[in-house]
Amino acid sequence: MFANILRRIKRSREPLAKLSVREVRDHLLETFPAIVRHGHYDPPEHRCSRWILVNGPAYRDEGYVGSVIIESSKLVNWMTHHAENVFTTVVAEQQAMEYLPQWLRNADTSDETISLLDIQQRKVLDGHCLKFLWSDWGKIWCTSCQATHVRVMEHDEGWASTGKMTIRFGDWHCPDGHLIYKHTQRDIRLIF
Ligand SMILES: [Zn+2]
Repeated sequence: MFANILRRIKRSREPLAKLSVREVRDHLLETFPAIVRHGHYDPPEHRCSRWILVNGPAYRDEGYVGSVIIESSKLVNWMTHHAENVFTTVVAEQQAMEYLPQWLRNADTSDETISLLDIQQRKVLDGHCLKFLWSDWGKIWCTSCQATHVRVMEHDEGWASTGKMTIRFGDWHCPDGHLIYKHTQRDIRLIF
């Protein structure tokens, strides 16, 4: 089906490299409307606080014993870039992704509470939280220590690094060795 899209793009005489992600998306959705999963997204009405809970048992996220908490202001640039370069055919999730940069940008950084994400926001950020931790944008909450830590033990053992590569996520532990996240097979994925 992508050959079709490329032909359409060629006919428009636009060099592919000059097309924005949004234009490619529009071509795709126009040509294959059946792939669109319609839905409606209600953006949160409350203001984002300094911290957001990205993953954790509070969301019943599979494998999470501890919680991953990220500083909203540190995520703004990554989220803006992500929203401009990624798209989904799930309409509600797409709308959540487009709204997230401004929601994070407008966060009240003096409010030390932790904001919970809605289901669509969580889908947008799903699978990225280890990258956020490696970037030192957040902290983990260990339920055994009843304390936060800025690094997981695996940070310092060098078993993985960031970048454009296939990453096999392992279990993560707090610095005292308590389990934070139990690896499951589904978390093998390509990170770009
Ligand atoms: Zn611990």
